[in-house]
Amino acid sequence: MLKKLIEPMQLVLLQKKYCPGCTRKLDSQRNRTGRSQTTEKVVCDCGRIFIYDKELDTYRRAAFQEV
Ligand SMILES: [Zn+2]
Repeated sequence: MLKKLIEPMQLVLLQKKYCPGCTRKLDSQRNRTGRSQTTEKVVCDCGRIFIYDKELDTYRRAAFQEV
């Protein structure tokens, strides 16, 4: 029940480039590793891991197999 409310909020935060866990700005996170020509792995201060798509300029949560 609660999850249904939280998930859309987290998506909105991600679209605004904030970490949904701690609301830090992902653009200012320095822990970034290139994964391919177009994507970077970004590790937030809180330990959450995201994939940044340079072409689309978007962040998404990393899937387990990507960590
Ligand atoms: Zn965070």
